[in-house]
Amino acid sequence: MIQLHIPELMPDEFILGYLGRIGAVNGIKGERTIRTSLREWHMHRNRSISEVTLIEHLSYVSGIDTHHFARHHTLIPAYRAVASHLHDHKHGEPSDLGLLSAHAPRLMRNDLQLCYECIKEDIDFLGFTFWRRSHQLPGIDWCQKHATALRSVNKEVGFFLQPRDAIKEATCCQENQDLVESNSVIKRYVELMHMVLDLPRPIPPSVISPRLAEKAKKFNLRKSPLGNRQLLSDLAIDQLPRSWVMKHFIKLLNKEPNQFMYEYDGVCNAGGKAHASVSYILATAILCKSFDEGHQLWRDGINTEMIKVDKVPAPVQFSHRRIKTAYVTSGGNIKQMSELMECNYRSLQEKMKKLGLPSLAAMSIPTLRAVQDCRRRFKTDHLCRLNFDQAI
Ligand SMILES: [Zn+2]
Repeated sequence: MIQLHIPELMPDEFILGYLGRIGAVNGIKGERTIRTSLREWHMHRNRSISEVTLIEHLSYVSGIDTHHFARHHTLIPAYRAVASHLHDHKHGEPSDLGLLSAHAPRLMRNDLQLCYECIKEDIDFLGFTFWRRSHQLPGIDWCQKHATALRSVNKEVGFFLQPRDAIKEATCCQENQDLVESNSVIKRYVELMHMVLDLPRPIPPSVISPRLAEKAKKFNLRKSPLGNRQLLSDLAIDQLPRSWVMKHFIKLLNKEPNQFMYEYDGVCNAGGKAHASVSYILATAILCKSFDEGHQLWRDGINTEMIKVDKVPAPVQFSHRRIKTAYVTSGGNIKQMSELMECNYRSLQEKMKKLGLPSLAAMSIPTLRAVQDCRRRFKTDHLCRLNFDQAI
């Protein structure tokens, strides 16, 4: 029988670092072996392991739902800050299997970053170290807590080496830190990058682009390849320290002046596919005079979008798989299920009635016992799974 010790997930701990720490505390080496051990661990608890993504594995073992896990322990909120595909779905939606599988472990830079001071504190206060998500953000090379330069290690080192050991191989490559930190555009960029981590769902380009276009008008910027007016990409080169641009936005330095760059100059044009989210965040930092102005622009956009989404009557169209997960997780409690699924309780109750799935929470203990006896004393989660499989 596999016995895995599951350490407590730390605030801001990055998904891959947590996987590595589970491996470290259990003496398991290599991502593949840890994943296999997690699968076996689930099998012993009668969990269905088909199509279980890494985030589902880890949210299950840490007792945190996938929405919360995605928002606080992955880079999904930054990577998908602006997205046209499934923009009305909250980050970490369990039914978005392909998206979760592809984006949850995704990195947004070519190196892994560590803070020497954070590591020292972790050793003193916790006795162990962990990889922080906020240190892995693109364009940010210093620790927000300690205001010291982050140290960089090669991606190949991986999150399976614990930070206290990885720091021995790290280099400090922050150049002109004062120049970078004091630049007002970069300051706004950093604040905005942290702001998007708090957004519950993506904002579609059709909402953010017109707002950015309004701001661009004040700078008399050009939005198309033709013309002579200044471009956002040229304004970026003028306003940002060359060392920072070279490190994080090298393509900007490779272009000719006045040459239209779709991935930066196109962010003010609504429609079509979304550009990389960092392009929108950088554009906001350049076009807004203060963080508050940029924050307002995004908040207004997301609120408008949420109101629009919430106004649409929402028939219950949940996948059977999603209902099953919530049914099993909540032990058949439909009220808890509606909270887990963030949906209307009455609609879900209707749907469950149609599926012929009883609310186990509504049963008296003797009735529940009788049902369990009849089901050969299965535990509640197994009973739920059995009920579901028979109903569908
Ligand atoms: Zn730090």
